[in-house]
Amino acid sequence: QEFDQMGLADELLKGIYAYGYEKPSMIQQKAIPQCLTGRDVIAQAQSGTGKTATFSVGVLQRLDIEDKRCQALILAPTRELAIQTHRVVTALGDYMGVVCHAFVGGRRVSEDVAMIRRGIHVGIATPGRMMHLLGKKFIDPESIRMFVMDEADEMLSKGFLDQIYDLFQFLPREIQVILVSATMPREIMDITSRFMNNPVKILV
Ligand code: AMP
Repeated sequence: QEFDQMGLADELLKGIYAYGYEKPSMIQQKAIPQCLTGRDVIAQAQSGTGKTATFSVGVLQRLDIEDKRCQALILAPTRELAIQTHRVVTALGDYMGVVCHAFVGGRRVSEDVAMIRRGIHVGIATPGRMMHLLGKKFIDPESIRMFVMDEADEMLSKGFLDQIYDLFQFLPREIQVILVSATMPREIMDITSRFMNNPVKILV
């Protein structure tokens, strides 16, 4: 299946091709259509398989660009990955007018809050920072419709498990959850059964 057979908006397709992607990778072919239905998705995929663009395209297509409240949150295990994912989402969404912001340490929280006030569609953060933004209501949890957990097993090995459980307490129950992980240890399975609703599982 090609990118232009997925029912994506023209502006998004333009961003995908301009970024240099011609053909979807295996995970993209299998998982993007599932993400687009709005259902919960577990994608078991290594780094290097094209998993970032998979959830990025899914999220971008399902955004309401007119609504400048944060509709999607992407959780990353490291600051570096958050920045990298921010780059991909921003590039793919370039022609859509999407505003994406990476909340990473080393920047003043006041700058982040100013950014949110001006309006963002997608926020990316590591667990601690995301907890802070939601806990202090800098981001209104009620505006969130999509939640992506990237490299879930990496978050586990970094000791973020408790923070992930805490984060879910702030998020509305009926949002779409997309979880990406290279491996599926027990603790990650527990998260999927507890916080995901009838997820489709894709293994590449
Ligand atoms: P990831 O698995 O997200 O870390 O992506 C691994 C690498 O594959 C990155 O350099 C991406 O830019 C690249 N990539 C992802 N999807 C595609 C695609 N459809 N065509 C060509 N390169 C891609």
